[in-house]
Amino acid sequence: SGDVVDRVARMLQGRPALKPVQAVADVDLDIQAGEVVGVVGESGCGKTTLGRMLAGILAPSRGRILYRGHDVSQLSGAARRKYELDIQMIFQDPFSSLNPRMRVLDIIGEAPLAHGLVARHDKESYVCELMRKVGLDPAYRYRYPHQFSGGQRQRIGVARALALKPSIIVCDEAVAALDVSIQAQVLNLFVQLREEFGLTYFFISHNLGVVGHISDRVAIMYLGRVVELAPTDAIFGTARHPYTQALLKELPSLGTGQRQFEPIKGELPSPMDPPAGCPFHPRCPRAMARCSRERPVLRQVAGPAQAPADGRDTRHFSACHLDDEAPPANLL
Ligand code: SF4
Repeated sequence: SGDVVDRVARMLQGRPALKPVQAVADVDLDIQAGEVVGVVGESGCGKTTLGRMLAGILAPSRGRILYRGHDVSQLSGAARRKYELDIQMIFQDPFSSLNPRMRVLDIIGEAPLAHGLVARHDKESYVCELMRKVGLDPAYRYRYPHQFSGGQRQRIGVARALALKPSIIVCDEAVAALDVSIQAQVLNLFVQLREEFGLTYFFISHNLGVVGHISDRVAIMYLGRVVELAPTDAIFGTARHPYTQALLKELPSLGTGQRQFEPIKGELPSPMDPPAGCPFHPRCPRAMARCSRERPVLRQVAGPAQAPADGRDTRHFSACHLDDEAPPANLL
């Protein structure tokens, strides 16, 4: 075995050091209470990394995440625990995120019990109420995850997240593993729960159609950067960025039911070796000479100069040299 170690060491000596991958860079995004912000992009664009940073699972190597005005990296003790309870995540695969050896009663009820959100003698009624809220029959509370369908398992995941009384839920491809008809049911459940509990969602998906169904605003990500950010109706009606326009062409046309499917040409470049200049230029139908040299910055292309103190943020941002006349973005 010493021989093998020597050989591997010799092989590695000649190799260049691995470059760190920047999964997310220069992202400046605010989420208002009660808002649904959708994040769309191809796999590898950094949207999951962003969601995990928001949920406190990953820490940014640079920059800050502010939660109710406080820098999350500075939170400790009770304040940190409150933050971790207040932001819950729902994952893509409801089966692998549920412990197969636990009954639904415990999957949903153990964490709120451990955190003192419910007393032991109230746990069962608490779980039953949550099961009703997400459309599950409480009579099934003694069953195990494998005894439920994919859609029901995702409802268990939703109930488990709600059990901790969060105000923000990060949904990471939360309906991607479900059949289309079940996707619609679970999306409608998210809409209904948002109204009932006043929830804020950070809704991550590769599917612009899914995100458009539920979101107030949409951020389009490409290779770790937000390239367009706007209210949902503006993304679907007056998209500015060529990448967003290309994503829209991949959607089935509404109304007629006919697909005018036009796939985006080329592959997503490796995040380990992103193109110089605009990261989208090798695939962009409108690329100009400068696009391969200069990285475009996010600029405000429509909407009021300032974000409203409360109410909907209708500002529209895009990062493309076609909009170089627009003022640089001030997202605060
Ligand atoms: Fe296309 Fe250039 Fe705009 Fe990038 S900056 S999206 S390459 S036109």
